[in-house]
Amino acid sequence: MELELTTAKEIVETSQKYNLHAWTVQGSSKPLTMIGGEGIYFWDGEGKRYYDMSSQLVNLNIGYGNSKVIKAIQEQAERLAYSSPSFAIDVRSQLAKMVVELAPDNMGKVFFTLGGSDANENAIKIAKMVTGRYKIFSRYLSYHGSSYGAANLTGEPRRYTCEPGIPGFIKFFDPYVYRSPVPFADEEAASHYYLQQLRDQVIYEGRDAVAAIVVETITGSNGVIIPPKGYLNGIRRICDEFGIMMVCDEVMTGWGRTGEWFAINNFDVKPDIITFAKGITCGYAPIGGVIVSKEIASYFDDRFLNCGLTYSAHPLGCAAGIATIEYYQETGLIAQAKERGVLLGRILEDLKEKHACVGDVRYIGLFSAIELVKNKESKEPLVEFDHDPDKVMSKIIGTLCARGFFTYSHENTIMVAPPLIITEQELESAMAIMDDVLGEVDKSL
Ligand code: PMP
Repeated sequence: MELELTTAKEIVETSQKYNLHAWTVQGSSKPLTMIGGEGIYFWDGEGKRYYDMSSQLVNLNIGYGNSKVIKAIQEQAERLAYSSPSFAIDVRSQLAKMVVELAPDNMGKVFFTLGGSDANENAIKIAKMVTGRYKIFSRYLSYHGSSYGAANLTGEPRRYTCEPGIPGFIKFFDPYVYRSPVPFADEEAASHYYLQQLRDQVIYEGRDAVAAIVVETITGSNGVIIPPKGYLNGIRRICDEFGIMMVCDEVMTGWGRTGEWFAINNFDVKPDIITFAKGITCGYAPIGGVIVSKEIASYFDDRFLNCGLTYSAHPLGCAAGIATIEYYQETGLIAQAKERGVLLGRILEDLKEKHACVGDVRYIGLFSAIELVKNKESKEPLVEFDHDPDKVMSKIIGTLCARGFFTYSHENTIMVAPPLIITEQELESAMAIMDDVLGEVDKSL
């Protein structure tokens, strides 16, 4: 392969001329270039180095340049680069066994997809087939993907371009305790309030109409919202009461991000279906999946599973998945993420204490968000929901980026989710940049 583009200028100009970029205003924004990466760092076309403090799209858990995973992909490409997803091949069988064995013990089989969006779409299809119902519940502050069905499942504004949506997709409010309209005595009281609302909503939609309730186990891109105590258990109870499939979207939270293999392991709950992608290969090759309970798996023993894409369960993704899981196991990286998360939590609490602009910090493992406000007492958000005409948040992200701290924001929150391989020293140095930038935001209030 010979590349004719060598300088950063050529790469950017050609890209702006020929590429339509995801999630971007095409004309006015200049894409960041990326030339290479190592560990938790990547560098751009001018040689500037960045701490990757969002692990790209919260998927690069093992960082850049992992030779074990690279080698596994190379070897697989030489051995067998492609096979239709309905064939049994060694890496596909082995990865399936590893995934099911690491999942909660009620799980029986896995259906491999291409990524997270189609994992969620297949989860919906499976829930509809198994229950014979068509209504699907999901939450307003959720992101479940960008393909048409997954975007309909999504609750936040990234859904709007797909509206009017697919009939039967119903939204409910999140247990966003920091911004609750009513004060609660404790977390259980908050859970009780939100669950009661949800149960009523299910009944009003029809006691035997709902196929699935889909939740991100911990809300990710919409601000790392950790469910209050008892909330997920309550969702399980509602699902059991009405014969509904409980689906946990673990696309962002699975594979170690929260210091556990799956975020659901932080709670004493067993869903019927778990979807995943991202951290199973950390982006080295694409693959995602839908893990289903033993009961659901057996439903298909004598029925046709009408799901699949040409590239689902791709051999390169399977090989990368095996090598990544082995890497997690050999290095103890997931336990390390939990431990490092304690340090991250301490740093975040200090930032909250110190800065007038920090209203809330939420964290678990190496998964966290900083919520910015104009006023700590009133909790008035730094920017209103879906309304930031002065681009306040992108200016803050731009300042962080200029100082070598790469991450992204969503509404009035900043994501902090570094690769799980980050050292204590790297975490402290990177967060010192955040501290400085938040100081400047304080001055602007
Ligand atoms: N679900 C969640 C919770 C996600 O965070 C994402 C991606 N950010 C998706 C689904 C969609 O995954 P993909 O981009 O791999 O299609």
